Amino acid sequence: MSQSLFETELEQIKAAGLYRHLRRVENDQGPTLRLDGREVINFSSNNYLGIANHPDLAAAAKDAIDRYGCGSGASRLISGNMTLHEQLEQRLAEFKGTEAALVFNSGFQANSGILATLAGEGDVILSDSLNHASIIDGCRLSRAKTIVYEHGDLDQLEAGLDQAAGARCKLIVTESIFSMDGDQAPLREIVELAEKNGAMVMVDEAHATGVFADNGAGLVARLGLGDRVQVQMGTLGKALGGFGAYVAGSAALREFLINRCRSFIFTTALPPAVMAMAVAAIDLVRREPERREQLFCNCRRFEEGLRDLGFPLGTCDSPIVPLIIGDAEKTMGLSERLLAKGVFAQGIRPPTVPLGTSRLRITLMATHTQEHIGKALDAFKEVKEPA
Ligand code: PLP
Repeated sequence: MSQSLFETELEQIKAAGLYRHLRRVENDQGPTLRLDGREVINFSSNNYLGIANHPDLAAAAKDAIDRYGCGSGASRLISGNMTLHEQLEQRLAEFKGTEAALVFNSGFQANSGILATLAGEGDVILSDSLNHASIIDGCRLSRAKTIVYEHGDLDQLEAGLDQAAGARCKLIVTESIFSMDGDQAPLREIVELAEKNGAMVMVDEAHATGVFADNGAGLVARLGLGDRVQVQMGTLGKALGGFGAYVAGSAALREFLINRCRSFIFTTALPPAVMAMAVAAIDLVRREPERREQLFCNCRRFEEGLRDLGFPLGTCDSPIVPLIIGDAEKTMGLSERLLAKGVFAQGIRPPTVPLGTSRLRITLMATHTQEHIGKALDAFKEVKEPA
């Protein structure tokens, strides 16, 4: 692609109202941000428990740098596998209640790599229509036949499983909490269908890790499905406040991925500080269930406030509150008007969400105060267009 082609494509993106630009955060990641020079209340973060700037995580990272240095120097299979990688994996397996766990450099690399490793030509992946881009790319990379079922539609999933009857391997993949809609997948029913049809289940717990279950292990744990979901994937960069990702499951799954998964094998291992931070985050999240209680208390107050103002909300199952507007430009206009009033609620447009479903993706944090929520509701009241 030449320079002029970039420019032409950029013009087309702008004309479609889909141009994206980077905003700059000038302080630490808290419930308030200094965003492009302006103080705002942050309703656009996946730092749901508010621990991305917690002193325990910072102290663990500093100590790891003092003891083990900054970089890991190589991939895990060469000389980059350090004590802290294994310590974190043990901690993750305990946390998730699985036999083993394996750390990945990001959730994107985990999903794309795991799916491409577990399924191949002659296999069938059944994937929810709203699954994350990294899952979609993993399905493509795998070269397996991918059957996309309508979001949460169990009849379509069952029909897909019938269609896949003769396949060598059948793998159902779903998020547990959907990233842009905040709703929950019908995991119990999915697991039952999988068992009836001899399929494996992979669940992406990116937005559930730290948030659900008494210890924060996720939605699979809360529903008691840990023994029936073969592959649990999640991130360390959202509610756990750091960076990286994990897969939790059997020891055989771990060994298989170490031997076959290209996005695990061919990349430099995460640095010691990131590992130490994640261990500290898991300990904190288990020790302080009150953060989850506060988070859900904030969610209830905010949702009730928005409903009282007449904003149309669906069922709210998580700290992600989607306010569907439909039109991309209107969505971005609303987001800008809120920003002008000191409230940062990011507008989300295609291709991140389906055409015609642009929305504000509003996310709550445990560290939002009643004052933050009250101010945000006032701002929503002021920007609301008359019906
Ligand atoms: N899976 C889901 C559902 C996500 O929302 C994200 C978001 O980033 C990812 C995977 C990727 O995780 P990471 O940010 O660690 O690459």
